[in-house]
Amino acid sequence: MMKAFDLSGKVAAVTGGTRGIGQAIALGLAEAGADIALLQRSDDQTTKEKVLALGVRCEIIPCDLSDPEEVKAAIPLTIEKLGTVDILVNNGGIQRRSPAVEFSEQDWNDVLQVNLHAVWTLCQQAGKHMVEQKSGKIINIASLVSFQGGVFVPAYTAAKGAVGQLTKALANEWSSVGVNVNAIVPGYIATEMNTALIEDPVRSRQIMERIPAGRWGDPEDFKGAAVFLASNASDYIHGHLLAIDGGWLGR
Ligand code: NDP
Repeated sequence: MMKAFDLSGKVAAVTGGTRGIGQAIALGLAEAGADIALLQRSDDQTTKEKVLALGVRCEIIPCDLSDPEEVKAAIPLTIEKLGTVDILVNNGGIQRRSPAVEFSEQDWNDVLQVNLHAVWTLCQQAGKHMVEQKSGKIINIASLVSFQGGVFVPAYTAAKGAVGQLTKALANEWSSVGVNVNAIVPGYIATEMNTALIEDPVRSRQIMERIPAGRWGDPEDFKGAAVFLASNASDYIHGHLLAIDGGWLGR
């Protein structure tokens, strides 16, 4: 049975792998045997060194998610450097918090570009290749606000809601040709993105009290689900939004 989870010989492209959830997912996929393309805007070598230490190949592919042209070039470049792309993890993302009446147009556009438009472009680019090779796994990182409204995060909520629906739309088109498109829904995870919440003693306590598991999530919590959704073990799972939230959505 464990062979179904083996990713040896597969190539995975991961955005936002420099830290947080994306770094844990990249390392999890590499631990399962996949070669990794780190689609990132900086030349930070931290994750690359950790991946290489696991004995698989790793390339950094320049990809600023706020630059549509660079995003468009990233999958062709991955294929050029690593031969193919079998797995795409759309994880990179940004957050901007402000009451809706004060929310700037710049923040709206920045969040929509990075959290939605770049996801679409990478799905389309990788999807073209995967449909042609009749296999592939796309994992989008959605959010609790793909289901709920959130507070003071209107652009982020709009983008993540759309990421959830895009996941289902693409699954409907590509499931019959052997391409799986699914999403992971993180709950409240202790990463840099949540520094403002973690440092607010009232919000931090309120959030903790509402999580049935009784703790914030950790990036390590994402390795298992990412390997599962990237592997043959999930071949009949399409258009699913898998919550990793300590039970938050069920409460
Ligand atoms: P972090 O803030 O820890 O990491 C964000 C990652 O995205 C970094 O690798 C960052 O790279 C990358 N990134 C941001 N902007 C760009 C850009 N313009 N171009 C390229 N890369 C970029 O976030 P998390 O690990 O917490 O979040 C990962 C994903 O999970 C996101 O999609 C987020 O929305 C989602 N999520 C997180 C939750 C949480 O509680 N933490 C809850 C729900 C969803 P760089 O190092 O260059 O900045």
